Amino acid sequence: MNIDIAIKQATLLLKKCDIKSPLLDSEILMSKAIQKDRKFIILNQNYKINKISLNFFKSLISQRSSGMPVAYLTKKKFFWKHEFDTDKDVLIPRPDTELIVEETLKLTKNKNNIKILEIGSGSGCIILSVLNERKDFTGIGIDISKKCVDLSKKNTLKIGLNNIKFLKSNVDNFKYGKYDLIISNPPYINQFDLKYLEKDVINFEPKLALNGGQDGLSEIRKVIKKSSELIKIKGKLILEIGFDQKEKVKKLLNKKGFYINKVIKDLAKNDRCVICTKI
Ligand code: GLN
Repeated sequence: MNIDIAIKQATLLLKKCDIKSPLLDSEILMSKAIQKDRKFIILNQNYKINKISLNFFKSLISQRSSGMPVAYLTKKKFFWKHEFDTDKDVLIPRPDTELIVEETLKLTKNKNNIKILEIGSGSGCIILSVLNERKDFTGIGIDISKKCVDLSKKNTLKIGLNNIKFLKSNVDNFKYGKYDLIISNPPYINQFDLKYLEKDVINFEPKLALNGGQDGLSEIRKVIKKSSELIKIKGKLILEIGFDQKEKVKKLLNKKGFYINKVIKDLAKNDRCVICTKI
């Protein structure tokens, strides 16, 4: 069978299963199956696929049709300027989270040798993206999941950085160092709302990275408390929040001695990122 027909059949199947971008997903999974890039797929529609690759492609499409995210099938996701390794143990890097990277880079444009902490570093995509552009900074990423820490170490090697350490730690137990900048995208979905997330997300991504407890703020509270202890005076905290959490989070931050600089909206115009300063 050639690429053209295989992709047409796969696209139809994914469409029937309500997958949102069936053609794009089929092309990406075809790239994975025959180990060529997407450009090759588009330019060589008559390329004949061998039996082994075709079976592999069909199995990828069948997994995708059940909702398994593309990033878990390819085990890769592009974020900011790099392709990060991903697997089912980490939250897939989101385009909206690139806001944190963008804002961190803006805030640190004229700074040298500063120390950054990321709380809940997952795949490492945020802090690695920042440190890759700020080679004189040093960073620590902590995550409660050993599997996340292992994956973020792999991503560190892949990008080739040596100014970062990743440690397995619970936010409450981490007591090491003082930081100029703390960043975090903690789990912030209210546990009762988890079921309303898209099925690709809730059926496949780690609940540990999504579940923010009874009011969605349990982990945010811990991050704010810990940050208030580990941040230097005038240090900045950059926090990703849920679309309806702005007012509550502002109050929590004020209580712990943070001045709110700004709240930034994401691509869908929802409040998504708070920037504040320890006073
Ligand atoms: N923004 C993510 C989502 O909508 C949630 C990430 C998080 O809880 N930190 O799926």
